[in-house]
Amino acid sequence: MRIGSAGKPNVVILGAGVCGLYAARTLVERGIKVTIIERDPMPGGLAAGHKFGENFYDMGVHMLHEHDEEIFEDMKMIMGDERIPVQLDAKIRWAGSFYRYPLQFMDMVQGIPPYTLASCVLGLFWSQAYYKIFPEEPEDAEEALIQLYGNPLYEFFFREFTERYWGMPTREIAAKFVTTKMPRLSAVDVLKKSLGRFGISAKQGKAVDSALRDETLHYSATGAETMPRKLSEFVVEKGGKLRLGCEVTAVDMRGSFVNSIKFRNAEGKDERIDCDYCLSTIPLPVLVDRVTPSVPPELVDAAGHLNFNAITIHGLLVKKQKCLDALYVYYRERFFHRIGEPKNAGMKVTPSDHTTLIVETTCVPGGPKWEVTDEVKAAIVRDLEAENICKADEIVEWNVMRSPNGYPLYRKGFEEHFDKIAAFIDGVDNLHTTGRNGGFCYPNMHGAMRLGADAADRVIERFFPSAASTVS
Ligand SMILES: Cc1cc2nc3c(=O)[nH]c(=O)nc-3n(C[C@H](O)[C@H](O)[C@H](O)COP(=O)(O)OP(=O)(O)OC[C@H]3O[C@@H](n4cnc5c(N)ncnc54)[C@H](O)[C@@H]3O)c2cc1C
Repeated sequence: MRIGSAGKPNVVILGAGVCGLYAARTLVERGIKVTIIERDPMPGGLAAGHKFGENFYDMGVHMLHEHDEEIFEDMKMIMGDERIPVQLDAKIRWAGSFYRYPLQFMDMVQGIPPYTLASCVLGLFWSQAYYKIFPEEPEDAEEALIQLYGNPLYEFFFREFTERYWGMPTREIAAKFVTTKMPRLSAVDVLKKSLGRFGISAKQGKAVDSALRDETLHYSATGAETMPRKLSEFVVEKGGKLRLGCEVTAVDMRGSFVNSIKFRNAEGKDERIDCDYCLSTIPLPVLVDRVTPSVPPELVDAAGHLNFNAITIHGLLVKKQKCLDALYVYYRERFFHRIGEPKNAGMKVTPSDHTTLIVETTCVPGGPKWEVTDEVKAAIVRDLEAENICKADEIVEWNVMRSPNGYPLYRKGFEEHFDKIAAFIDGVDNLHTTGRNGGFCYPNMHGAMRLGADAADRVIERFFPSAASTVS
């Protein structure tokens, strides 16, 4: 095994999203030399803050969950007094009413016609009892959703929502999407919660992933950007290198070993850096494309089957104190699928009598929603006005943020293509790919940070096997 100068390994991390940054934090803390290569001019990836005029805009409002206690305590320390705790207050706009998100049973009781409600509840209980007794591997997202929610609730709510969100029929979406992305609406939780409200039973269901749990989230006056900024500062203070505006153009292999990384720097010049270990968080198909010499055609083909839903996010500055009665609202029948109002979570907006809106759309790169034509803007304004959120003449700034890699697309059958690529990468001695797009999975920020920490532990284990838990 080759080790870089002064006996210390050169670890090169591709991508400075929260996964790459947290991996770097873990490594530099243990005295390991790290260089992060990031394409964008600022760190954070999907969780970056974009400054337009006087204000920061998230690429879709990003708040930190507490689910991973260790990561949360660490981030609490890192964010210091910039952290603002905020109670989750998300809603779903549906058939003229607002429902709390995740979907809550008692709200449904009030909003759904009695016959439909009865059939939804019976369907939920029936399907959960049936599939507990006769477990069945679902073939696709439709079957998985029916197992999870029952047929009536699926037909009434989830089919159309899911199909609009993903732009394809649920029969074409892999079942894995449901098991990794959809909140569980356990029949037992529903019963406990509803009985609890009548004083009959314990108030809280205990399921960890219960869709009914109340939650505190964490934010800051400048939005999500605090987290990547503070993580970056820590890494650089400890001697790590963060190369921003640098796009990885080649992952040079010698046999089954990554020898060096080539990138185009912020001045447009090519550079190369030696590499003892490469930890990649860039999208999996991009990594496959950058491997030199090129991978065999069947791997190129497999990578072509790993697609993403792109996101175009419209960051609007609005001349109004407040637009929404929630942190964010999901819409089923509008041009956008979610709008967040960061001010309601403590974001500082300038001027102070204005607010900002984060209007989210999913799209295909190059398609009409991606390009943001006048028609797109007109459709958004029409729906904002129809929902009484704001009027056209109250919008004083219109900013656009995009990512071609918003959501890994779990098209039915994607697993075999993913497995081929995973097997290839497993065969490379010093390469690991992880994170949301690098692992083609669905972590939230704390999950992506955990993946980064785990990846860093692999590196530590490899280079300092006897001291993995004690290196400092
Ligand atoms: C709309 C939306 C809202 C969300 N809201 C929340 C939320 O409220 N709370 C929460 O916890 N999570 C939220 N998430 C999830 C969260 O954004 C992700 O889990 C997390 O940011 C993923 O981090 P990552 O580092 O794995 O990936 P990324 O952020 O995608 O990082 C990968 C990095 O690689 C860089 N890169 C790509 N190609 C190259 C190249 N060729 N060369 C160099 N660099 C390259 C990218 O620029 C990027 O910085 C949300 C996600 C979306 C899409």
